[in-house]
Amino acid sequence: MNYANNILETIGNTPLVKINKLTEALPCLVLSKYETFNPGNSVKDRMALKMIEDAEADGRLKPGGTIIEGTSGNTGMGLALAAIVKGYKCIFVMADKQSKEKVDILKAVGAEVVVCPTAVEPDDPRSYYSVSKRLSTEIENSWYVNQYDNPSNAKAHYESTGPEIWQQTEGKVTHFVVGVGTGGTISGVGKYLKEQNPNVKVWGVDTYGSVFKKYHETGIFDENEIYPYVTEGIGEDILPENVDFSIIDGFTKVTDKDAAVYTQRLAKEEGMFLGNSAGAAIKGVLQLKEHFKPEDVVVVLFHDHGSRYVGKMFNDDWMREKGYIE
Ligand code: PMP
Repeated sequence: MNYANNILETIGNTPLVKINKLTEALPCLVLSKYETFNPGNSVKDRMALKMIEDAEADGRLKPGGTIIEGTSGNTGMGLALAAIVKGYKCIFVMADKQSKEKVDILKAVGAEVVVCPTAVEPDDPRSYYSVSKRLSTEIENSWYVNQYDNPSNAKAHYESTGPEIWQQTEGKVTHFVVGVGTGGTISGVGKYLKEQNPNVKVWGVDTYGSVFKKYHETGIFDENEIYPYVTEGIGEDILPENVDFSIIDGFTKVTDKDAAVYTQRLAKEEGMFLGNSAGAAIKGVLQLKEHFKPEDVVVVLFHDHGSRYVGKMFNDDWMREKGYIE
């Protein structure tokens, strides 16, 4: 018989799928690392499990403990699945701009969810960073995951996502393009691929309203770059320790409108029903056209599933209200 012993054993080994129509204007092969095949429907299952295993190993997480994290949903789902199998409780703190589906989904897998305002500074006591930290000091036998600065996040991608991409492309990958939030995915995958072949180029996709691109280009943390934006999952108003700027060759910024429109286009033109950051990522690839030659093999990573966005990017009334479609 061929079976997994529990749901956690099905994490990883996701397929690599060619993009066809949307990338017709590019000279090269574009392959997507299709992370919605993970059991929690996102790439975050990988790092959630790795962060828990590393915390168990060095005693930060003890039997019967409570896992606390500030999460926009996907990391929460990964943590919740692992917590169920391993016997922990979960409390997740989210910003109120995140979709209602994401909150409901986390509650469905047994987590407690605390919602905080988006439009406050990170060091404001009401921010989801501050509330997560406070809860972890108040609740006994709890562990604050902190995916932004937790090195197990990038390590998970260095140990699994990166090697899978290298093996699936038989070492032919020339460019890796991915949306950047905590930085775990780009830093872990990028480091692994560059160790195999230093000529691999690593590009981050950023949002307008986020600090990454300017910081990478100038070394300046410019607060004028920070303003509210709609795109979910990528961009930050802080510099997470998981972003290794030294392995990133460049950033391209995608508008909220383009990210939303391309999320719809992936579904309608490729049959790829994916989250908002996948729309941003594929538009980012198109914006980088001048960097690609015919023999190149570009890998773009798609983080999460479209079901979490049915009330937003897949709702034409919402799209019209925002002025993204006529
Ligand atoms: N897309 C989505 C939907 C996400 O949830 C995240 C994680 N915040 C990202 C992209 C960015 O990935 P990372 O945190 O590894 O940079």
